[in-house]
Amino acid sequence: MKAEIIAVGTELLLGQIVNTNAQAISQKLAELGIDVYFQTVVGDNAGRLRQAIEIGRGRADLLLFTGGLGPTQDDLTKDVLAQYLGRKLIIHEPSMAVIEEMFSARGMAMVESNRRQAHMIEGSEPLHNSTGLAVGNALEADGTLYVLLPGPPREMKPMLEGPAQDWLRSMLGEEVPLFSRLLKFAGIGESNLEAKLMDLIEGQDDPTIAPYAKEGEVSIRVSTKARTSEEADGKIDATVEGIKERIGEHLYAQEDIPIEEEIVRLLRSSRRRLASAESCSGGLFAELITNVPGSSGEFAGGVVTYTNVMKNKLLGIPMSQLEGKDAPGAISESTAAMMAENVRLLSDADFGVSLTGVAGPAESEGKPVGLVYFAVAERGKDTIVYTAKLSGGRSIIRLRAVKAALYRLWL
Ligand code: ATP
Ligand code: MG
Repeated sequence: MKAEIIAVGTELLLGQIVNTNAQAISQKLAELGIDVYFQTVVGDNAGRLRQAIEIGRGRADLLLFTGGLGPTQDDLTKDVLAQYLGRKLIIHEPSMAVIEEMFSARGMAMVESNRRQAHMIEGSEPLHNSTGLAVGNALEADGTLYVLLPGPPREMKPMLEGPAQDWLRSMLGEEVPLFSRLLKFAGIGESNLEAKLMDLIEGQDDPTIAPYAKEGEVSIRVSTKARTSEEADGKIDATVEGIKERIGEHLYAQEDIPIEEEIVRLLRSSRRRLASAESCSGGLFAELITNVPGSSGEFAGGVVTYTNVMKNKLLGIPMSQLEGKDAPGAISESTAAMMAENVRLLSDADFGVSLTGVAGPAESEGKPVGLVYFAVAERGKDTIVYTAKLSGGRSIIRLRAVKAALYRLWL
C-alpha cells in the first residue's frame, strides 16, 4: 500500500511551525508496513487542498490528512474532502454531546462554528478524539482510503496510536509488516560510508539500506518486509554480512545506542576503568561517558586542563614541554600522550584518554582549526596517539573529536 501524508496549515508553509506530525505519521505507517511515497504540505485554502487531494488520489492508495479539523473558518479539511467526494457532512452525535457538555460546564455560549468539530463525512468511521473536541474521520471511497486527523500533536498522536491505527490495520488485512534494524557506525563519515557501500545501496531492493547521520554518528537502517521476525532476521543478517565485509571495523552496535554506551558496556564486562584528560573538548568526553546510566563503576573521573598551568599542576606535564621556543606545545602528539598516561596513573584506571587540539574559531599555537590530537594509554601497553583533522564549527569539531577518541578506545 502506498500512502501520502497531507499536512494542512498555512502556518506550516510560513515556517511558523515544523511539520512534526508528518514525521510521527511516517514512522507509524512504516511500522504498519505501509510505504509513504509522498509528504505534502498545503495551506488552509479550499482550491489548493482540493488540488492536493486530486493529485494524491492519483498516486497513493491512502491519503492521510493532519490539520484543519477545528472550529474556525480556515479549518476546511472535512468540508473540502466531502465536497470532492460528493458526500454530505453529517453530525456525529456523541462528539456533539461532548462539545455541548463542555460549553455548558464552563457556562459559555456555544457558537455555531463549534458544531463543525463534530462533523463527519457521510459513510465514514468516526475516530475518537480523547484529548480534544474535533472528531477524526476514516473512510474508503472508490478504492482510496482517507484518514483525517487533527493538527495539534497532543490530539493527533493519541488518535493515530489508537483508533486510526486500528482502522488501518483492519483495512490492511494480510499486508506484510516491515521489520528494521539500526546499525551504528563510528570512525567513518557519512559520505565515506556511502562510498564504500555504493554497490549495496544502488542494488538495494529488499532489504533496503538507508544511511543517515546525526550528532557526530552515522547509522544505517536496514528494513525488510516479512511475515515473521525470524524470516526478517534472516534477510537482515545476510545484508549486514555484506556491510560488515566492507566496513565491519566501524560497526559497533546493531541497536540504537551511542558509542559511549557500548564502551561502558565493554569496560563493565572486562572489569576495567577509564579516566580522561581534556583540553579542547572541555569535558565533553566525560559528559558523554557519564550520560550513560550506571557508568560510575567504569569511569574513574576526568580533568579539564585548559591552561598550561593546569596541565602542569594537575597532570605533571613539564612547562618546558608546553611552552618555550622549541617546546612541542600543548597541542602536540607528545602532550596528548603525556596527558593520557598521567591521568591514567593519577586515577589508577586501566585506560587514560586525552584530547588536545584547536576547536576554533581561531588557530592556536600556530596550529589550524580542527587539528586535534588524542591518545589512548592502556595499562601495560604502549600509548597510541592519533591525529584528526576535523571540519565544522566549534561545537561540531569538539563532538567529532570526542567521538573519534571514543572510536579508537572501542577498537
Ligand atoms: P484546532 O482545533 O486547534 O484548530 P486543527 O485540527 O484545525 O486544530 P490546525 O488548525 O491545522 O489543526 O492546527 C492547529 C495547531 O496544531 C497548529 O497551530 C499547530 O500548533 C499544530 N499543528 C498543526 N499541524 C501540525 C503539523 N503538521 N505538525 C505539527 N504541529 C501541527
Ligand atoms: Mg484549526
